[in-house]
Amino acid sequence: MQFKSDLADAIGKTPLIKLRRASEETGCTILGKCEFLNPGQSVKDRAALGIIRAAIVKGELRPGGTIVEGTAGNTGIGLALVGNSLGFKTVIVIPETQSQEKKDMIRLAGAELIQVPAAPYKNPNNYVRYSGRLAEELAKSAPNGAIWANQFDNTANRQAHIDGTGPEIWAQTDGKVDGFVCAVGTGGTLAGVGMALQPKGVKIGLADPGGSAIFSIYTEGEAKAEGDSITEGIGQGRITANLEGFRPDMAYKIPDDEALPIVFDLLAEEGLCLGGSSGINVAGAIRMARELGPGHTIVTILCDYGTRYQSKLFNIDFLKSKGLPTPSWLDRAPQSIP
Ligand code: PMP
Repeated sequence: MQFKSDLADAIGKTPLIKLRRASEETGCTILGKCEFLNPGQSVKDRAALGIIRAAIVKGELRPGGTIVEGTAGNTGIGLALVGNSLGFKTVIVIPETQSQEKKDMIRLAGAELIQVPAAPYKNPNNYVRYSGRLAEELAKSAPNGAIWANQFDNTANRQAHIDGTGPEIWAQTDGKVDGFVCAVGTGGTLAGVGMALQPKGVKIGLADPGGSAIFSIYTEGEAKAEGDSITEGIGQGRITANLEGFRPDMAYKIPDDEALPIVFDLLAEEGLCLGGSSGINVAGAIRMARELGPGHTIVTILCDYGTRYQSKLFNIDFLKSKGLPTPSWLDRAPQSIP
């Protein structure tokens, strides 16, 4: 019999899939790592599991304990599902700007969801800082204690990619991978895969959306967050603990009007239903392919499943209100199910 022993056991070991159009247009082999196939439908299941396991090993998380986290949504979904599977409660703090579908999923999974107004990190009521304070309070009052997952500065996050995602990519490509590109939210994926593959000679590239300062930090040594993006879960204004000690070889600034048509085409032409950050990543992989030239193999991350963004990224009225490109077929797609 072949089966996984529990949900945690079903996280990771995701397939690589060749992205046809991106590969044809560049003469490279561009491969997407299908993180949307994780049980919580995103790459963040890996970080959630890594953080929970590390806290159990350190004796910080006791049976029946509570996990508190500030998240754009996907880490909250991962923590809630893994928490249910392993017997922990979850309290999730989310900026109210994030998609309704992610919030609904967190509640569906039984987590307590606290919405806060979107505010920069320097504001004490920023969702990350709010969640840290809440965890401190709950650690005193919750019956079995509480921990703060702290995905931005807890390096158990990137360790999940050093141990999992990076070596998986190496093995799946028989070590023939030339480049790896992805965006930064916490930096766990970029730095973790980077730390696993850069020493093997793989070029590591950052793909940064508008409104994020990571590109300028790496290219000019100064944090400048220019532009804007409707993508969720990515963009960062500082070097998190997960990014410390790592530096990408290349960096690309990707505007939404370059990334979104890729997301739409991947769905319409290749059947891949993905969120906006995957578009930033694939656009970054295409930029790296052009920089390295034909014949190279480049891997990127297909971060999460697109139905999570039906009310925004795949909503023609929302796209038009932002002056963003709209695919012709979306005019015919139902905007909501009655
Ligand atoms: N894409 C999406 C949709 C995400 O939710 C996240 C995590 N916030 C990322 C990309 C970035 O991953 P990381 O936190 O590892 O940088």
